[in-house]
Amino acid sequence: MEDGWGTLCRCRASKTKLMSLGRTISACVLLWTMGACGTGAEAVSVEHGSRFDRESGQLAVDTEQGVDEVLRKLRRVRYRDLPQPYVERTEQNMAPFKKRLARRRYLEVRGTQRLMFIAGRFRIDDFLAHDEVWRRHNATYDQSEPQFLLLDPKLPRTIVRLQNALRRRELDAEAFDVREAFRPPRLNREDGGASRSRHIYGEAVDLVIGDINRDGTADAADKAIVLDLLEHKLVRNRGGIGRYPGSQTIHFDFRGRRARWDSY
Ligand SMILES: [Zn+2]
Repeated sequence: MEDGWGTLCRCRASKTKLMSLGRTISACVLLWTMGACGTGAEAVSVEHGSRFDRESGQLAVDTEQGVDEVLRKLRRVRYRDLPQPYVERTEQNMAPFKKRLARRRYLEVRGTQRLMFIAGRFRIDDFLAHDEVWRRHNATYDQSEPQFLLLDPKLPRTIVRLQNALRRRELDAEAFDVREAFRPPRLNREDGGASRSRHIYGEAVDLVIGDINRDGTADAADKAIVLDLLEHKLVRNRGGIGRYPGSQTIHFDFRGRRARWDSY
């Protein structure tokens, strides 16, 4: 609590997101100058930084129902109602993807909706396709173009369950990051993803695991904790787990059947 800067400024949003970064810094300055770090803010845990969003007042999402409430705020769009230039640019009209994608409902993310927390303090933004529109939105204040998101609700719900399980074990529930989730066909191809990757359908997420056990390093021991929870509690036979030994990355998805692999 005393080290207001050190504690508060570990906010998640301080990634490469200029807009979020600006907000994070101003939130830190504001809270620090107000002396709010240790007093008068009991409802808001500052263990890892502010548990609410300064702009919206939104609390971190700690329940599966909370995830669903956030998802309900987003407009649903049928495949055939998507803007055609978007569909073409992202190659979602290409075989063999189109057939499966055509049955999906997309979430429309407009303006600052992308900054809403959806699982813990992970934001909608963390699950969006990291394409040129996403990069532009992160690099500038231009938020004019809506983004469309495929996201199996089981993914953010599972992240919430993972965080709660880690918390119950008195581990660091926030010491991991969402690297990538939805990857439309073109992005998946350019990123070198598997040709039938579940990321294409918004059914998969990649995590990067940090110092879960708080021993000072992010290593295989931290990863083993998360893998164990995914294997025995969270995914089990309902989906795939990419274990990628030698890295801090884990993939999981809900493909409806068991799959395990170790190499990319
Ligand atoms: Zn993956």
